[in-house]
Amino acid sequence: MSTGTTDAAGVVVVGGGQAGFSVASTLRARGYAGPVTVFAAEPHLPYQRPPLSKKAHTEPDELRVTLVPGSFYGERDIELRLGDDVVALDTAARTVRTRTGLSVPYAHLVLATGARNRPLPVAGADLAGVHALRSLDDALAVGRALATARDVVVVGGGFIGLELAQVARARGARVTVVELADRLLSRALSAQLQEHLRRRHEESGVRVLTGTAVQRIEGTDRVRQVVTSTGSLPADLVVYGIGAVPRDELARDAGLAVDDGVLVDEQLRSVTDPRVSAVGDCARHPHPRAVGPVRLESVQNAVDQGATVGRRLAGQPARYESLPWFWSDQGALKLQIAGLRAPSDDVRLVPGDTPGRLAAYAFRDGRLVAVETLDWPAEHLAARRLLERPTPVLADELTGTTLGGLARARRATEVRT
Ligand code: ADP
Repeated sequence: MSTGTTDAAGVVVVGGGQAGFSVASTLRARGYAGPVTVFAAEPHLPYQRPPLSKKAHTEPDELRVTLVPGSFYGERDIELRLGDDVVALDTAARTVRTRTGLSVPYAHLVLATGARNRPLPVAGADLAGVHALRSLDDALAVGRALATARDVVVVGGGFIGLELAQVARARGARVTVVELADRLLSRALSAQLQEHLRRRHEESGVRVLTGTAVQRIEGTDRVRQVVTSTGSLPADLVVYGIGAVPRDELARDAGLAVDDGVLVDEQLRSVTDPRVSAVGDCARHPHPRAVGPVRLESVQNAVDQGATVGRRLAGQPARYESLPWFWSDQGALKLQIAGLRAPSDDVRLVPGDTPGRLAAYAFRDGRLVAVETLDWPAEHLAARRLLERPTPVLADELTGTTLGGLARARRATEVRT
């Protein structure tokens, strides 16, 4: 069955990450019959990024991160152009130009360009032994360095930093996390749950310095020490994860509206040009659960947004309103988040049924809006199920019970009625 249009120019996807892959595979799964071209800047087949900071990698085949075998693309008539990135966009002519000089027309363009690391703004950041961690090649370089590193300094106590800190600890290194803010994961996690997470990292032997600025990195041919606002730390490996900035310059240079991400509508079309969509880390979208337009860096968001645009271009338009969720494996610690919390929400900490399990429920106007869990996957799943339903969960319903308990109680009532 073909439900799609068959424009000769077809769909061009810029970006070969999880979001771009999701667009292309959904187009074909939903019967789109026109040409589909994916431009991927990296030389590797599209791969999953989450494992890169969660394991120590030394050989490419140890990673097993490739999304699908290379044959997938040919079988579905998806033209995958590896190692060639799009450098210019002309929305009037509806063409893109690549680094190698190729000019390609499109009927619809999808920007899935992702985000790049915020660079570490200090002297010495270019010394050997100082690494960012975003790409497969970065992960391989860090994995090789970890084989001999004794003193590891992780700059940034966010998702990537904390995951990598535990990887380095497991390899036997002395590990210090240097975080500028006064707490870990300040962007994503409530202060209440953060305290417990910090304690768990410290119990595993990771030293955590919050409220500490890196002033410079010193060494002759390679890194030797990190000078911070609270003292110097010996280091033979420095890995930094201090946040990401969206790759939205193609859109901006083409005159499309951007504001820390390509601005899109509820169907993920550029607010300036409906022939251009943006998905994943590079898109800022209105979400019914968010206070203002949000840009989310998560696999769930990349996959679901890609699928939404793929379905629309195959003839099945829909608003994007998937429940956001996130996870982070930090050594043996499993952190999961469902929903979107705002700083002004009320947070209630709830102990789990066994020691170590913990949840933080976030309420806005007496309604549950987000749930963070530590080592409690069942409660995370219950949270997702309940938050996806149109019936709100009221703060009063959670007195003396967990979300798992509430979900069971609701199911029992539904069976009876
Ligand atoms: P990532 O995806 O890179 O882990 P996050 O936003 O989750 O991004 O975390 C980045 C962390 O880095 C935040 O906790 C932020 O406060 C911290 N950070 C930002 N700039 C610096 C800096 N110069 N030095 C140390 N930490 C920083």
